[in-house]
Amino acid sequence: MTLGFIGLGHMGFPMAARLLRDGHELTVFDTRPEALEQAVELGARAASSARDVADRAETVLASLPSVAASVEVATGERGVIGGRRIRRYIDLSTIGAGAAADLAGQLAERGIAMLDAPVSGGVGGAQQGTLAIMVSGPRDEFRTATTILQTLGNPIFIGTKPGAGQTMKLVNNLMSAATLAATAEVMVMGVKAGLDPTVMIEALNAGSGATHASRDKFPRAVLPRTFDFGFATGLMVKDVRLYLQEALDAGAPAELAQAVVRCWETTLDREGPESDFTSIVRPVEDAAGVIVDGRGSS
Ligand code: NAD
Repeated sequence: MTLGFIGLGHMGFPMAARLLRDGHELTVFDTRPEALEQAVELGARAASSARDVADRAETVLASLPSVAASVEVATGERGVIGGRRIRRYIDLSTIGAGAAADLAGQLAERGIAMLDAPVSGGVGGAQQGTLAIMVSGPRDEFRTATTILQTLGNPIFIGTKPGAGQTMKLVNNLMSAATLAATAEVMVMGVKAGLDPTVMIEALNAGSGATHASRDKFPRAVLPRTFDFGFATGLMVKDVRLYLQEALDAGAPAELAQAVVRCWETTLDREGPESDFTSIVRPVEDAAGVIVDGRGSS
């Protein structure tokens, strides 16, 4: 099966690299020429636009940073919708159920099947091929794409309703965003009260307060003050806002989600969209006048 990949960023590049390593012929496109060059060095063929990818490949995957980019790449003037060869389009980005359903409808009119397949597991999961991939769309298309998706991780079929995979991914990310925000707040509180942050993380991880934030994000990117986990604050703000909108649209309570969105918007204002999402601790530290610094701990 001829494959294409659009969007070679933090997530897309290592995913494309895995597909190449697996022996697939891959045509790629990114608006950043340097990303394209790096992929070509690994054996990919460069295309000049999303449509050019879809002229050459039957199955096209994409990992893009915003709803606007996903819309442009799927249905824009030089989007995959105008491609001659494409049969199925797999969007691995987080764009929300409404946008995914809309794109699926437009692509279906041109005979292109869409799977929305947002992923979880971060850059490490993309490199190691251990992503959780939450897929929705036509079941036969899911079956056809399963082997490819297994190169990237563990595909889980969420349902045939377009956008269902997106809803599941937003649920996952609200949990992830909320626990990171909560861990930031309690760690700052403990340090302010005189506790050692490294000991705090050890105790949390031995107790019922352990989360992915305490097990992985804090030890790797906050305690050593590197803030380099690999997910941008701007992307997390996108995701929590999408969750809140979907919750409100569905008529589901969202008091916690509203507080979580406020925490992330403060981080966005103070640290900027390109900052690593582990920077969420910084505005809390500033407000308390302490730093969650594990470098001096034994
Ligand atoms: P990124 O910004 O690192 O990468 C996006 C890439 O898309 C960039 O290389 C950019 O140049 C390219 N791009 C932008 N507009 C384009 C266009 N119109 N045509 C072609 N290329 C274009 O973002 P990322 O961190 O890789 O995230 C991608 C998606 O995966 C997002 O939806 C994000 O929410 C989701 N996600 C990210 C992570 C993570 O840890 N980074 C984890 C899970 C899910």
